Amino acid sequence: MSARNITRTGQASSCYFRTTADGGTRKALVQIDERCNLHCAHCFVSATRDGHSMPYDDITSLLIPRLKACRVERVTLTGGEPTIHPRFTAIVQALRSAGMQVGFCTNATTLTEAQISELAGIGGVHANVSLDGFRAESHGRFRGDRGSFAVTVATVRKLAAAGLLQGVLCTPNSLAEDEEYRELCEFAAGNGASYVLMNPLSSMGRGVKSRGKLSSGGEHMRRIRALTCSPPAPRSPGMTPASSSSVTSSPTRTSRRGWTPTGSPGGTRWAPTPPAGPAASPGSAARAAPQRSSPPGS
Ligand code: SF4
Repeated sequence: MSARNITRTGQASSCYFRTTADGGTRKALVQIDERCNLHCAHCFVSATRDGHSMPYDDITSLLIPRLKACRVERVTLTGGEPTIHPRFTAIVQALRSAGMQVGFCTNATTLTEAQISELAGIGGVHANVSLDGFRAESHGRFRGDRGSFAVTVATVRKLAAAGLLQGVLCTPNSLAEDEEYRELCEFAAGNGASYVLMNPLSSMGRGVKSRGKLSSGGEHMRRIRALTCSPPAPRSPGMTPASSSSVTSSPTRTSRRGWTPTGSPGGTRWAPTPPAGPAASPGSAARAAPQRSSPPGS
């Protein structure tokens, strides 16, 4: 595949993963398709409709053996939009047959019901869906296609019904009203998402140009936090603090269970607030979200 430079000279690459793999094992992020049907203002790989798909035969004969040799147990498929790879579900099946957990990051605009059903049947698969606002005028505009919002929302519901939805990935931006982030978190919680990950708009790919105009500043991020978080549950002795103190000033509950920012490098992860009481174990708030990869993009 041809390579696209996603960083600038002198700029450190971001780490795609917010979690670590279990001892002795590894995680891998695999870009199976460079192409994308959308044209997001912040796309960190500057994806367009042009590009290459990783050949299926290369995946089975080269990639998977190499991943196994490297003790990779968890794989996140990304792009571009990974689901537009002509053999997307077959790739997922091949990775699962090799014993790997499979996640994919998607804009949730191209998956068919047949694909969702097939993925659910494979098992051991989860989806992280990008949602950057809760209106066509914000999310859709940010993603370069206002019609994409309704499709993404409908597909999130289908993924949730199939038991595939793990998390929602959000890049807060100046196109969305503050209230939308509360609605977005409610929507995610209502569909059983384990977390909403807020990724700041990075100076990578198209974000280099769009960041100055569209990124959310620190004050905006603090407002979003106040709108979308409930106070963390009381801590038992020795329990690890869940987040910074700004959360505790907000009494807002935005989901059935409440959400707590757990803090992760490069972004903030909103996870359902753990139950209070003596059963809470050290660090349980941070572990409320599954320890899986959540790269930006898609
Ligand atoms: S951010 Fe994701 S959905 Fe948007 S253009 Fe890039 S690859 Fe496509």
